[in-house]
Amino acid sequence: MFWIILAFIGLGHYIEDPIYHTYDEVLAEIGSFAATYPDLVFVDTIGFSQTDSLPIIAVKISDNAHLTEAEPKVLFNGVHHAEEVLGCEVIMATMRRLLENYPQNDTVRRFVDSLEIWFLPILNPDGHNIVTALIDTGWRKNKRDNNGNGVFDPDSDGVDLNRNYGFNWEDFVGNVDTVPWGYFYRGTAPFSESETQAMQRFCARERFVVSVNYHSPSYSLGEKIYYSWHWPGHTPPFPVDFQVIQETAILMAWQIPRDDGTGSYTAVYGDARVPNARNWMYATYGIISLTPEICSRRVQIPPDEVPIVIEHNQKGIFWLLDHILHTGIGVVVSDTQTGTPLEAEVRVLEIDTFDIYPLHRLTDPRTGAHFRMLRPGDYTLKVEAEGYEPKFVQVHVDDGVMTHIEVKLLRSSPILKPFPNPFRDKVALPLALEHPSKVDLEIFDVTGRKVVSRSYQENSSGLVQLSWDGRDDNGNRVPDGIYFVQLRADGERHVFKVLKL
Ligand SMILES: [Zn+2]
Repeated sequence: MFWIILAFIGLGHYIEDPIYHTYDEVLAEIGSFAATYPDLVFVDTIGFSQTDSLPIIAVKISDNAHLTEAEPKVLFNGVHHAEEVLGCEVIMATMRRLLENYPQNDTVRRFVDSLEIWFLPILNPDGHNIVTALIDTGWRKNKRDNNGNGVFDPDSDGVDLNRNYGFNWEDFVGNVDTVPWGYFYRGTAPFSESETQAMQRFCARERFVVSVNYHSPSYSLGEKIYYSWHWPGHTPPFPVDFQVIQETAILMAWQIPRDDGTGSYTAVYGDARVPNARNWMYATYGIISLTPEICSRRVQIPPDEVPIVIEHNQKGIFWLLDHILHTGIGVVVSDTQTGTPLEAEVRVLEIDTFDIYPLHRLTDPRTGAHFRMLRPGDYTLKVEAEGYEPKFVQVHVDDGVMTHIEVKLLRSSPILKPFPNPFRDKVALPLALEHPSKVDLEIFDVTGRKVVSRSYQENSSGLVQLSWDGRDDNGNRVPDGIYFVQLRADGERHVFKVLKL
């Protein structure tokens, strides 16, 4: 790989130009968005910076922005790395473009009405202030006081926030440092920093379909989109969603022209052995996480070139928003009886059986909704929620449309076991009923022959005390051996194995 050091070439402080936002200017502009478009803008403080306790602000742009709706969620975040300020500029300009064009532009209105679009312009406000105050325009990390002397020491302080995530913390390779003065210092422990903790809580709550984590080239070549992942030595080396992730990254990259007019961005997979946001987001929640390294030259560019970088990257953003709305599945899970949305695990059996990652494919408990990009094809979903009977659902996904599926789950009764088991004369068959119900009792021998078929009308809920005396429907004692007891009530079915001695 060809590496080039661009961050420290002194070409003047472009960051002083008013086109670049300071942290305070970002807050002021977001405040004016919220005031001007109160129905479309929801401003959320997701945490505070490690050293200066500055609010880390995320903004949702959506119709009914103050409600959480069953819509796919996407995140655009910037400034993990303090000096990589262009991501913040792309994000601020994109929020403005969506809001100003919402009334008259059908495409924008479709995006805003159908998606929850989140923007997090500055994850690292402490570091960003170091850069924009010209203390160190090449500063990368946060301001963590590593040596505990109470003052900021650029030579020894700071954690690289994009090496501080809790995935493959021990397995790191390459550009990860374990020494506090290191440019890539990962910190003392996964999520040791309040900024990454904020991101951790934010992702746990919102479970984005896609997250675009903007960086710009401070030490490597830019105009690339990195995606998840290649994991040398691991089985499998590529993630279970590799095809759909790769396709998304490549197609998005093709939308973004290179600044010098020669073709478009390229997409490359990143190394799974780096404890960064991209790997952690995918491994934990299956969030398709893309890292555009925007611009080709350096982290801060001449002011007149900033609008071009923004315009080019917005082509990628608009393509992505459209793609999310036309790909894969949207599942909404609720309780059959009450209609209440449920937090459920939604696994695609054809894909998710292969590896332990991602750990979770969860619906949002506020809406019961889960969205996932899938390639066209036929799939089997297994939908599970605590206290409910799991459900299997067959789904056909077409190219270019999102398939919507409603799944209603039935609450499972507490499972009570027959006793004594094995039994000689009589076995108790306790059953807990949520509602008064007819109870069907059927007992089969090992050959599948039905020996007992009885029904009981229970007029109250709670514990029902059924039993079996080891006799068939004709009153004859059945031979010793294994029997299968089936109890059906409330639309549910429980099967137990009992042994008669
Ligand atoms: Zn970066």
